[in-house]
This record gives sequence, structure tokens and C-alpha cells, in this order.
Amino acid sequence: MADFATVKLKSRKKIGFRLNLVLLSVLCFYLITTAYSIFILWQQSEEFKHLTNTQFERAIHAAELSRDAEQITSQALEKMIVQGYSSSYYQSLSNSPKKVFYSIREKLYANTPKEQAILDEIDSITKPYFNTLKILDNYLLTEKELAKQHSSISNSLRYLQKAISSNVDLTLHQQHFTNLFLNAINITMLSQNAVSRGELQAQKNAISALLAKMYYTDTLSDTQLSLLDQLYHTSQHAFSTRLKFQNQHLATLSAIRQTRQKAQQLSAASFDFYLLLKKATLDSTQKHDVLIRNVITNIILFSCAFLVLTAFAYWFIRHYLIFRLNRLNQVMLQHAKGLKTLIPQEGEDEIALMGKVFSVFVAATEQAQKDSVDARKEVEDANLKLVELNQSLQQLSHTDDLTQIANRRYFFQHFIAYWDKASTEKHDVSVIMIDLDWFKQFNDHYGHQAGDKCLFQLAQIFKTETERVGGLVARYGGEEFIILLPNTDKMSAMVFAKHLTTTVKEANILHQGSTKGKVTLSIGVATHKPKPGDDLDKLIHLADQTLYEAKHNGRDQVSEFNPILD
Ligand code: GH3
Ligand code: MG
Ligand code: MG
Repeated sequence: MADFATVKLKSRKKIGFRLNLVLLSVLCFYLITTAYSIFILWQQSEEFKHLTNTQFERAIHAAELSRDAEQITSQALEKMIVQGYSSSYYQSLSNSPKKVFYSIREKLYANTPKEQAILDEIDSITKPYFNTLKILDNYLLTEKELAKQHSSISNSLRYLQKAISSNVDLTLHQQHFTNLFLNAINITMLSQNAVSRGELQAQKNAISALLAKMYYTDTLSDTQLSLLDQLYHTSQHAFSTRLKFQNQHLATLSAIRQTRQKAQQLSAASFDFYLLLKKATLDSTQKHDVLIRNVITNIILFSCAFLVLTAFAYWFIRHYLIFRLNRLNQVMLQHAKGLKTLIPQEGEDEIALMGKVFSVFVAATEQAQKDSVDARKEVEDANLKLVELNQSLQQLSHTDDLTQIANRRYFFQHFIAYWDKASTEKHDVSVIMIDLDWFKQFNDHYGHQAGDKCLFQLAQIFKTETERVGGLVARYGGEEFIILLPNTDKMSAMVFAKHLTTTVKEANILHQGSTKGKVTLSIGVATHKPKPGDDLDKLIHLADQTLYEAKHNGRDQVSEFNPILD
């Protein structure tokens, strides 16, 4: 108990400290987890933004590139047609955007039916678009062929121009033919640049008129006639080529228009797709932003709630557990020190139950202590009674039942002890043997009970008288008594024995069976100064012998005997 009363708990061993530590650990763990979650969310958000931006950029590039392809193609075609670029240059231009276009198309995919519809539209336009480009390509090749023929016609015309100019016969008449011839060459050359069919027809008519005039010229030399024939064929060829060229050019322009139209459709569809992608990307970015914001807001709200709950749990544990446990602990320690303080028992929970159980324990302990004191008292009382009982038992064992004076056993114990003392101190020891006279007759006459009463009465007389002189009287057996008179010589013993006979006579106990009419005594007295080793039985025996002397001499008398013990 003392150990518990003086014990001082280490603060880190206390439940409160440990609970606080656990709560703090939970709180730290939660805060770390939350911070980590927010960090991961923030990272995800950033990554998503980056991805979205990238996707967004790619979508824009896809749409823009698609549109650019169309623009580049159409612009290139326009330039080519206007400036007469070679077909090989066109090929390199048309193939490259086509490849770019298809490579971009492969990267585009639909996430919604609306997107799929636009992609389908793009795909439906793509084929005709590239078909028109192919047709355009063929038309341009034809135009190129016709342009080559233009060139050869020009060369022929220049040759004819030179040939006619080198004619030296410059008569007036001849000069007129040459002028007509050169004029016809010029008109034919001009016709190669004629834009409209009307213009070409007018030039053709003019040439026909000039040729007719020249054929009707008189005196044409063979050379002139040959040159005129050549001019005729060349001009016919030039007009038909130019007409073909004009027709072909119209067809080419039509193909260009179609190409541009398709390209515009493609561009519009691509742009629509881009707008859809842009909107979808923006939507998903906004949704993701809202989601992340909501999640972070929820985490913060949840954290606040968790902090409040933790604070509440901390307060609850302190107020309902630690504080009460400490109080109960202090009260228990005070009880252990022996200070009786009020035991807290309010509430209906386990701690209240502990208090109640402890109060029951304290009450039981107090009761046990009280019981122990009572039990000790009872034991002491019992011991006391036992001692008394022992004493009375001892008394009983030393006392004769009938006469209530010392019995024979006690007499001998006492006598033996005294005998040693007397032998060392050299005292006279006197023994008196008493026998009632005619007692059988007394019984016969008065009854046995009356005999008992008589024995008792006489015993009290002997006791009173003997104790007065410092001796010890005992019932020796039947109606016989023995008296020890320590440190008493023969004379004194005789005086005392005679005094006894007188006293008994004076008691005047009636005895019809005796000749004396009252109870009388026969007494034998023996005295001896014992030495160590002397036998006390011998002294008693002598007293007994002396008593018989008294009986023999007539009773109611004291006999004295001087025994020789040596
Ligand atoms: P005497 O004079 O020769 O001694 O004769 P007496 O009759 O006294 O002696 P005896 O030895 O013949 O008888 C002794 C008697 O003492 C016998 C007995 O009845 C009586 N007596 C012995 N003890 C008791 C006793 O305890 N109570 C009573 N009432 N009588 C007793
Ligand atoms: Mg007798
Ligand atoms: Mg007798």
C-alpha cells in the first residue's frame, strides 16, 4: 500500500499523455495526407492544363493547317496559271499539302456524334477535292501542250516574216503583197493572245480577207505562192490552236473554281471541327477546373470538420476520461495513504462504475478492519475466559468436590515442595491426621446426605482454623482429613490438634450413633525436622499410626508420637 501511495507516475507513462500522442499522430497523419492529396490534385490540374493546352494547340494547328493546305493549294494554282509555272512545280505543290492533309486527318478522331458528322463531311469533301485537283492537273498539262504549239506557231510565223522580208523584188506591186503578208503574220501573232472567241473570230475573218486578197494578186512568184501557202496553213493551225487553248483555259478556270469551292467547303468543315474541338476542350478544361476546385474545397471543408472533430475528441477525452481518471487515481492514492476523501461516482459509465466498485471495496476494507478489531477483541475475551476456565479447572483439580477444600493430590504436591524447603531451611514439619469417630453409624443414623453435609461442615472448620495458623488442610479420603503445619514443632501441633477437637465439639453436631452424643474426632500428630533425602511418606505413615493409637485408646482424643525416622 505504501508503495502505491508514494508512487509518482512518469508523465510519458500516463494515459492522458499517450492519448494526446495518439491524437496528435492521427492529426499529423491526416494533415500530411490531405496536403499530399491537394498537392497531387494541383499537380494533376497543372498537368491537365498542360495536356489540354497541347491538345488545344494541336486542334488549332490541325484546323489551321487544313485550311492553310487549301489556301496554299489554291494560291499556288492561281499563281501557276497566271505565271505559267511548270507542271512539275505544281506536282510538288499539290502532293505536299495532300500528304500533310491526310497525315493531319489521321490524327483527328471524333468523341461525339456531332464531331463524327463533321469528320464525315470532311471525308466526303476530301475525295472530290483531290479529284478536282487531279482534273486541274490534266487540264494544265493540255494547256502546256497547247502553249508548246503556240511557240512552234510563233517560230513559223517569225520564219515567214523573215522569208518575206528577204524578197528583194520591191516593186510597188510586190511591196503591196509583202505588206499584206506581214499584216497577216501580225494579226496571226496577235490572235495567239486573243482572250475572247469574238476577238479570235474577228482576227480569223481579217486573215481570211487578207489571204484572199493575196491569193488574187497577179504575178505571184513561186516563192511567194509557197510562202502564202505556208502562211495559210500556219494561220489555220494558229487559230484552231488558239481556239482549243481558249476552250481549255475556260475548262481549267472552271476546274479551279470547283477546286476552290471544294477547298472552301473543306476549310469551313475543318474550321467547324476546330471550333467544336475548341469548345469541347474549353468545356472539359472548365469542368476539370470546377471539379478540382470542388474537390479542393471539399478537402478543405472536410479538413476543417476533421480539425473541429479532433478538437472535440481531445476535449471529450480530457473531460470525460483523463480528468476523471486522474481524479479517481488521486482519490485512490489518498485512500491508500489513509485519507478518507469522497469517491467520485457520478455518471453511469465505466469510470463511474470503477468509482462505485472502489467505494464498495473501501467499505468492505473498512468493514474487514472493523471485523478484524472485533475478532481480536473476541479472541482476547475468549483467551481471558479460557484463562479463567483454566484457573477454575486447576482449582477443580486441586479441590475436593464434596468438601471444597484441597484434595489429596494437591496436598502432596504442596507437601513435596515444602518438604524440600523445610529440609534445606531445617524447619519442623508437623502432620495431623484426623478421622471422624463412628461415622459409619452417623450415616446409618442420619443418612448419607447428612453425612456429606457433616463432612462439608467439618471441612470448613478445619480450613478456617488451619489457614489461620498458615497450614494446609486436605481431605485424605472418606471421612479422614490431613493437615500440614509448616515450621511447627510438636508442641504447637498438639495444641492446634486439641484446639480442633474442642472447636468441633463446640460445633455440637449431633451424633446419636456415638456414645458422646455429638461428632468427635480422633487425631494423630507427627512432627519431624527433615533432612535432605528424608521420605515424607514416613512422616504421614507415623501420623496415621498415631491416629490408630488414638482410636485404639478410646477415640475423641489426640495422640502424639515421637517417631524415629533415622
Ligand atoms: P471408627 O470410629 O472406628 O472410625 O468407626 P467408623 O465407623 O468411623 O469407621 P469405619 O472405617 O468402619 O467406617 C467409615 C465410614 O465412613 C464408612 C462410611 O459410611 C463413612 N464414609 C466414608 N466416606 C463417606 C462419605 O463420603 N460420606 C458419608 N456420608 N459417609 C462416608
Ligand atoms: Mg476411617
Ligand atoms: Mg471413622
